[in-house]
Amino acid sequence: MSNINDQFMAEAIALSFEGMRLGEGGPFGAVIVKEGKIIAKGYNQVISSNDPTAHAEVVAIRHACQVLQNFDLKGCELYTSCEPCPMCLGAIYWARLDKIYYGNSKIDAAKIGFDDNFIYQELERSIDKRQLPMMQIMSEEAFKAFQEWADKQDKIPY
Ligand SMILES: [Zn+2]
Repeated sequence: MSNINDQFMAEAIALSFEGMRLGEGGPFGAVIVKEGKIIAKGYNQVISSNDPTAHAEVVAIRHACQVLQNFDLKGCELYTSCEPCPMCLGAIYWARLDKIYYGNSKIDAAKIGFDDNFIYQELERSIDKRQLPMMQIMSEEAFKAFQEWADKQDKIPY
């Protein structure tokens, strides 16, 4: 007997097969569940959409936000066929999902050529020790927009 969590994960896994077999992207699928129902689905579409950010989790988050007409997914849970990469994990935090269930681990993903561990390692390094050069420039000018936001009376905080 499979429990409800397994049924949602089974759907995420089915999506991982579907997207891969359609040639849309790698073998990754995700669903978002609210109050016991799937409200959004996604599979990896990096290849078909020429979008390196079109990971299954991000695709599912975008769908869920459209369905709910909200940028906040509090009260929702994510089922993903693989442990989220750092980009998706960041997106999941920003979307404020309640919980993550994952199937494959990032170690499993690395074994088939999807190694995001180097990004996790990069994040632990100070900026000057990373492979990707990062320079702060024009900070005073850039900060003016921040100041305006801080002072803005009619903003929608998120
Ligand atoms: Zn990702």
